[in-house]
Formats: sequence, structure tokens, C-alpha cells
Amino acid sequence: MPELPEVETVRRGLAPSMEGAVIAKAQVNRPDLRWPFPERMAERLTGARVVRLGRRSKYILAELDTGETLIIHLGMSGRMTVSGDPVGQFHHEHPAPEKHDHVIFDMDNGARITFNDPRRFGAMDLTAQPDTHPLLTVLGPEPLSNQFNSAYLAGRLKGKKTQIKTALLDQGIIAGLGNIYVCEALFRAGISPKRQAGRISVARLETLTQAINAVIAEAIASGGSSLKDYRQADGELGYFQHSFQAYGREGLPCVRNGCTGSIRRDVQSGRSTFYCVSCQS
Ligand SMILES: [Zn+2]
Repeated sequence: MPELPEVETVRRGLAPSMEGAVIAKAQVNRPDLRWPFPERMAERLTGARVVRLGRRSKYILAELDTGETLIIHLGMSGRMTVSGDPVGQFHHEHPAPEKHDHVIFDMDNGARITFNDPRRFGAMDLTAQPDTHPLLTVLGPEPLSNQFNSAYLAGRLKGKKTQIKTALLDQGIIAGLGNIYVCEALFRAGISPKRQAGRISVARLETLTQAINAVIAEAIASGGSSLKDYRQADGELGYFQHSFQAYGREGLPCVRNGCTGSIRRDVQSGRSTFYCVSCQS
């Protein structure tokens, strides 16, 4: 499931083919994904120029010169592919249509953007007012933003009896964090995922804030380097190899200097949690 760094990697991969270009033809092959598509979506997109490709949490936001913004969410299994890419050194021919190609944009620069989503948990919407869109207004601040700091986190977690891992997955507290990067950040900060959220000192929240920012920044950086390779592969964006210190390492020795513990996997709120019982408290 794509998390914030994967979505940011997709955004960066799409930007050279989409920003400044006109959607010469939008093809919408079904009435809905997770939710129904907006009315007349293909007509509203065809002929529109993409002014800017932005991102908020896990949503890609294509600002159009029609005054509307296209909101794209990849869901669980959504994939974006660029073919006919006129920008890169490597040119991908348009692939044969596949079963789950639900939305296709042919840009006026020759690029084709294909959204494929077998499980259909993805979503697209068009809005003239992204600032007040219900999907976006509920989101807390982004990692790496000025609004996200230890004082903010202390305020939001004050009195909370939930476990810290559950609190960090709450998109209203911090936007864009998913299971993998929460596990990684808590590992780096040395904080047990089971610790009560309202009972963590401000000093440790400062360490946690820095850990969250670091894991997200590093993952975005490795996504960025994966973009150099994608042009040589199949044009699919956003999924890259990334090494984790805790996530997926059940039973393996802890990598923290001086720690002799090993990584354990538990299930919290239905999700796997990976942590070291020796150095996370
Ligand atoms: Zn350890």
C-alpha cells in the first residue's frame, strides 16, 4: 500500500509529463473506483492544462487551468504508469491496454498517463475548492512541515490514553503516516509502540518528531533515486526498494548499536507492529 513517500515519488515521476501540458484526451473506463467518479469527468478534464502537480498527504492534486483541481488517491493497489514519455532519455511505447486500466490521460506532449487499480480502492474527484474538500480538511499537518513539531504533537497527544502507534496512524493528528513508517519512526526514537500516547515526555516527543521527519525524508530520497531507474523499467512509478530497520524484520537481531535484543512482531489494531522489546520503552 503506497504511503506518503511512495505517493510523493509518483508525483515527482508524473510532473515532467503533466505539469504545463494539456490533457488532450481523458478516457474514463468505468463509473467509479472506491466512490463514483465526478459527473462528466472525462469532458471536464479533456482540454484542461495542468498548471501544477501538488500533493497533500497521500493525495496527488493536479491544479487545472479550468479552476478545478483533480484529486487522485492510489488506494491500496493503484498504479500510475507513464508511456510515450517525451522528457526522459528512455522512451516507453504505449503498453497494450490492461484489464484494470480505469483512467487514461493522453497529454498534448505525447505522454500517456495510465491509472490501473485491480482492487479499486483508489479514488478521483474534481473540485473547485480543494481547501474545503472533505477528504482534505480532516488531515493534520504533514511531516517535514513547519506546523509539525514537538509542541504541536504534545498538544494533540495530551491526555490521550490510546497507544502511541495508534495515535500516529490517526490522519487527523499527522497526515500521511502509515504502518511502515510509524514502526520505523518509533524504533528510531526508542519508543515502544504500546506506550500510552499522553504519557510521553516533551523531550521524547522531540526525538520522535525528528525520527518521523528523518524516515520520511530518507524514504522520499530513495524514491527519488528510484525515478532514475524507472525509465529503464516499465514506466511504473512509485514502488521502490527501501531498507527498513524494524519493519518486516521479525526475529532478526536489533540493529541499534549496543542492543542485543531482536525484533518482535505483534498485532495492534489489526496491523503488524515490529519493534525491539529491549531498546524501545
Ligand atoms: Zn534494540
